[in-house]
Amino acid sequence: MSAPKPHLTPEIKYTKIFINNEWHDSVSGKTFPTLNPTTGEKICDVAEGDKADVDKAVVAAREAFDLGSPWRTMDASERGVLLNRLADLIERDREYIASLETLDNGKPFMVAYFADLPLSVKCLRYYAGWADKTHGKTIPIDGNYFCYTRHEPVGVCGQIIPWNFPLLMQCWKLGPALATGNTVVMKPAEQTPITALYVASLIVEAGFPPGVVNIIPGYGPTAGAAISEHMDVDKVAFTGSTEVGQIILQAAGKSNLKKVTLELGGKSPNIVMEDADMEDAVEKSHFALFFNQGQCCCAGSRTFVHESVYDEFVKRSVERAKKRSVGNPFEAGTEQGPQVDEEQMNKILDLIESGKHQGAKLLIGGDRLGDRGYFINPTIFSDVQDDMRIAKEEIFGPVMQIMKFKDINEVIKRANTTAYGLAAAVHTTDINKAIMIANGVRAGTVWVNCYDVFGAQAPFGGYKMSGSGRELGEYGLEAYTEVKTVTIQIPQKNA
Ligand code: ADP
Repeated sequence: MSAPKPHLTPEIKYTKIFINNEWHDSVSGKTFPTLNPTTGEKICDVAEGDKADVDKAVVAAREAFDLGSPWRTMDASERGVLLNRLADLIERDREYIASLETLDNGKPFMVAYFADLPLSVKCLRYYAGWADKTHGKTIPIDGNYFCYTRHEPVGVCGQIIPWNFPLLMQCWKLGPALATGNTVVMKPAEQTPITALYVASLIVEAGFPPGVVNIIPGYGPTAGAAISEHMDVDKVAFTGSTEVGQIILQAAGKSNLKKVTLELGGKSPNIVMEDADMEDAVEKSHFALFFNQGQCCCAGSRTFVHESVYDEFVKRSVERAKKRSVGNPFEAGTEQGPQVDEEQMNKILDLIESGKHQGAKLLIGGDRLGDRGYFINPTIFSDVQDDMRIAKEEIFGPVMQIMKFKDINEVIKRANTTAYGLAAAVHTTDINKAIMIANGVRAGTVWVNCYDVFGAQAPFGGYKMSGSGRELGEYGLEAYTEVKTVTIQIPQKNA
């Protein structure tokens, strides 16, 4: 296979609001700029949707969901065909879409091309397969009845997605919603609307009926809030910060009690035992934290290392971080691009300052790289104590915290002393320790001797304040289906 070629200045074809398979200006006429985080310069202006546009989109999605509509009468297997076609189109345009993603988000093109794109395509194909396989049961209730369940779509689903994996999060949301026959009103993050709008054009090309998917670029407190407060949205699925998750759950409670699934923040423990393969543990722990510029909800951002191997681990981790190549995300060798925007960069720099003031030992980095774009040097703190801000708050940047522990019970307890519970990892060659930790940590995902391993087949989601509900896998279908019980009296033989 020849090496993929990025489009360095990809043409931006779609910047408007997508409703009913058509492009609309915002009702207010307003637009907002989306910036290139590598330079801080504007890429283009995008139509700024707010409540009025969400209202229009919900009407379109509701009509598309009407009994007797083309979407509701379509064979389930045909929904699978459409999802597979969408996956094929994304794959066809893989270089172009990966380039858009790099331009708008700042992630290295090679990562977008080799990770985000194939994971997105596989997610759609996985759910395409489920389209005609989500069936109910026949149930032997007492009496002379035929009782069965149907798994029906929930209805109009609001989907609010973040900026760290714009395309992948779009596919995680669309796949299960469309496979099960729902209609969608989606809001991409204001920092990264471009790929979502391009995918909208592919939704038309794939042949989805009008109104099945509607995409409203815009801001959270306006367009996002309009979705979560809407009286005619049946469900909202959200991925983002815990603070906004709380707002969304309240909005759902105050409006129509729409169903809510949330995938929120984390402060995930990554535990290195004394018997770990050291080289492997250093590399995987580096990846666990620094992947995607540290902008992962499940980043391994509390690195707990056994005291007997602590000094060696710290030394090797610093050597590894020194080698991390930071720079132009379109260049092939780049491992780390810019943070997504100035606000995130400043938030990260502020947390780094707090780490210095609270007495953690800064071993490398700790500052901005250059003065153009939003780059931060890979940063490592050792001697981190559990009560420091950098050990408690989600940093969402390339900043590693290394803590020391003495024994396994202690580390499990400390790993669980957090409001979050999204993910965890343990590095060990002892299966008993692996199982003790896998069972002991309160988190939705545990990786053993690996990190950030995702498959569309395996569920993902959080305990505690990291969220509710699961995405991906068969479990991911539950959030998008209502179970209906139908009971039919069976006529008596001589009646
Ligand atoms: P981050 O802090 O990482 O930007 P957010 O939780 O603020 O994460 O954003 C994730 C998504 O939630 C984005 O699409 C954003 O526009 C949206 N959002 C932000 N505030 C609200 C809100 N009050 N109601 C609904 N959606 C919101």
